[in-house]
Amino acid sequence: MLNRKMDTVYASDVLRQLDNVLIVTHVRPDGDALGAALGLGALMRGNLRRAQVLLPDPLPEKYLPLVRNADFLTEFPAGGLTQYDALIVLDCARNDRVAMGSGTDYPPQDISILNIDHHGDNNVQAEWSCVVPDAAATSAILVRIAALIGWKMTPQAATFFYLGIMTDTGAFRFSNTSPDTHRLVASLLENNADHDQVIQAVYFSKSRNQQLFEADMVQNYSKVDFDGRYAWAALPDEFFRKYGFSMRDGEMLIELLRELSGVKIAVLLYLAGGQVKVSLRSKDPACPVGPLARKLGGGGHEMAAGVTLKTSDLNSAAAMLREEVGKLL
Ligand code: 5GP
Ligand code: MN
Repeated sequence: MLNRKMDTVYASDVLRQLDNVLIVTHVRPDGDALGAALGLGALMRGNLRRAQVLLPDPLPEKYLPLVRNADFLTEFPAGGLTQYDALIVLDCARNDRVAMGSGTDYPPQDISILNIDHHGDNNVQAEWSCVVPDAAATSAILVRIAALIGWKMTPQAATFFYLGIMTDTGAFRFSNTSPDTHRLVASLLENNADHDQVIQAVYFSKSRNQQLFEADMVQNYSKVDFDGRYAWAALPDEFFRKYGFSMRDGEMLIELLRELSGVKIAVLLYLAGGQVKVSLRSKDPACPVGPLARKLGGGGHEMAAGVTLKTSDLNSAAAMLREEVGKLL
């Protein structure tokens, strides 16, 4: 595989020549993964291309109303990959996080791959890679590329890209928000992105059960250390079982820790597949969490990163994180 690095101009030249693609994203998809994948699918179909989106993992509950009318596969296409011109991988920084569906390894050998992402540490193997770390979301890169190609932005595509930008910026709260982010979002609204549908789904659809789970987490699991500069919580499986709640719907739980006044770093720990998964967030550019995540074998952005530790011991992982964060603060 050539693995050619390219900017959005070159990526738009590659994309404009593709006529029939399969689009994939990362495992346990979040708003930007869904928005980018379903948005690009809708955009290409709206511009007389053939595009299928593969989403093998269960989707977060709150996004279901948004995807109701979207077209996507939940299983690896029966006819294999040779029916497509290319595979497009979106918002996914590493080979082992690409969601290809059961039994299919990444990278597949029998197809060209275009990788588009905004994670600076992206090392996905692909023919062509367009990585734009400044972009607030992968959806934002796609809006830029669509304009470069001259594709018509359909209302459905605009709504999905709006979802991706809205969720990856935390509704414009995070430091990845730039003037360009707002310009792109303005263009999406001009093209009839459904603001109300996105906001209702993302911010006004919490279940009462989740609200009770969150209240219990704040009361009984969240801790604040280092004079209020570090907020963290380690959530055992029995706590999730108590509410029948899962991290699939917990994309924003860590914000309950980061939102506290004075907190610079927030960390959430829980078990995923028998291993401790750690989410890290910073709200002070002077102490980014990307380097710590990388040091521990994970990755992500400077201010929002993650790692999966090779242990199932939540308490010792929490103690180790506390010590590491202490060195940063
Ligand atoms: P989250 O905390 O929401 O799961 O992830 C935040 C960021 O960290 C994401 O952009 C994601 O790419 C990255 N990330 C999360 N978990 C892992 C992980 O286990 N390994 C690596 N390398 N990156 C991760
Ligand atoms: Mn993203």
